[in-house]
Amino acid sequence: MPLLLRALKYARAGPYSAVGVLLGVLILLSGGTWRSWRGTLEFGGGGFGRLVSRMPQPLRFSAMTLGHVILGVDTAALADLRPHEHVHVRQYERWGPLFLPAYLLSSLVQLLRGRNPYRENHFERQAFALAPARRAMQRDPGRG
Ligand SMILES: [Zn+2]
Repeated sequence: MPLLLRALKYARAGPYSAVGVLLGVLILLSGGTWRSWRGTLEFGGGGFGRLVSRMPQPLRFSAMTLGHVILGVDTAALADLRPHEHVHVRQYERWGPLFLPAYLLSSLVQLLRGRNPYRENHFERQAFALAPARRAMQRDPGRG
């Protein structure tokens, strides 16, 4: 991929990535770990992982993506959900600052239709279609 195009994709997702890095620093301060993987930063574990794992089901998740940053409850969840989360990274690159409003609007529309706002979300359906989640989602089918 040409360098300029790659730089534009990082810039479009940049505001979300910045928030992700801030949360990543908090994860590190809570005893978590990090690694870089194919253009992304992954943070997970520590007190953050324990806290998120104990949240009630509507709030609990195994991993989530903010721009080019992926946050996970532990390294196993990060590994299991990596293909799924990388679909979300591509979505952030494509949609830029509009990604989160579009994601939330899609969930709201599904909720108003009486459907599952997570599973029926357009962006989640695309991520599950392109990269079906493995073990972590079987353990915790709530989020990825
Ligand atoms: Zn997802």
